[in-house]
Amino acid sequence: MEKVTKQYDAVALLSGGLDSLLAVKVIQDQGLRVKGLHFVTPFFGKPHLVRHWEKLYGMEIDAIDVSEEYVRMMVERPVHGFGKTLNPCVDCKILMLRKAHELMESYGAKFIISGEVIGQRPMSQRRDTLNVIKRDADVQAVLLRPLCALCQDPTPMEESGLVQRDKLLGLFGRGRKEQLRLADHYGFTEIPSPGGGCKLTERENGRRYWPVLKYSPNPSVADFKLANIGRQYWSGTHWMSVGRNQMDNDSLLKVKLDTDLVFKVVDYPGPISIGRQFESAPWSEEVIADAAAWAASYSPKAKKAGVPVKVSVVTGSKENVEERIITVTPLRETPMGWAEWCWPDAKEEIREEARARAK
Ligand code: SF4
Repeated sequence: MEKVTKQYDAVALLSGGLDSLLAVKVIQDQGLRVKGLHFVTPFFGKPHLVRHWEKLYGMEIDAIDVSEEYVRMMVERPVHGFGKTLNPCVDCKILMLRKAHELMESYGAKFIISGEVIGQRPMSQRRDTLNVIKRDADVQAVLLRPLCALCQDPTPMEESGLVQRDKLLGLFGRGRKEQLRLADHYGFTEIPSPGGGCKLTERENGRRYWPVLKYSPNPSVADFKLANIGRQYWSGTHWMSVGRNQMDNDSLLKVKLDTDLVFKVVDYPGPISIGRQFESAPWSEEVIADAAAWAASYSPKAKKAGVPVKVSVVTGSKENVEERIITVTPLRETPMGWAEWCWPDAKEEIREEARARAK
């Protein structure tokens, strides 16, 4: 984070969704200075849009990377559980508020803003849950929710006169009419979606992430970055990511680790495939040969050739590249039985695990 020199009255959790932007505007309207904090993890966050939002919405925003803390929370499992998919909304809000509280002083700020509306979301925005979040994040004395403040008791910031309560709002429920009216009032020319876009709420991503949590002996930020790209195939604890197009191939090469195995057919066009070897379990020669034959089957021309083909398998760092060439017959069905996880299976395991933990 760049050195903080300005003094602010408040810091705001700023997902980039409409509600968080409106919450900032309501406080700025009172002549108070607000610094938006846009949290970034492998699961959400658009740091590349921060400068654009600053210009578009007339705000000052810092991107704050909380990937390490967030992955740790996912690995240890959220205290308040997962929502419909792999979204730990209550623990997520607690983590972000704690972090904002930690950073608040460095901005000279006296309170924290967040854009919740009572009853807007089923898991994290029920009245009782909002209270739990505030309590568990230990921000009772400094948290203000400007969009639904009039539906809650006055906060210390209102009682002290720092914030004028009569200029705050009393929104509740799932309707969006009032938010859209406010967006128009503030002259927003781009209306973002209600939330900030979170991969953890999507089944497609739940099935990508669950095997990482299940099989990686020490799930890391790098693992979830890899899980975000291309197609994910597993055979027990063995994991392969296959690029679907050139963009995936480029992204896979950017997130690869020195210990990964990079598979690519030699004489034919074909995708990049990454085999992630976990520290404690390097792949045997048999597994590498199986993965090479399987990866080669994603090159239509190599498969069509109907003869054994060469596959380059690269590992190591830039300075110390180890490459070997294996000759294999491209096979989609191999003894390893590489397969994608499906969401219903992942969901069932998540439920089972939650039941076991509750006992
Ligand atoms: S939707 Fe995602 S970012 Fe939003 S609270 Fe839930 S887990 Fe956090």
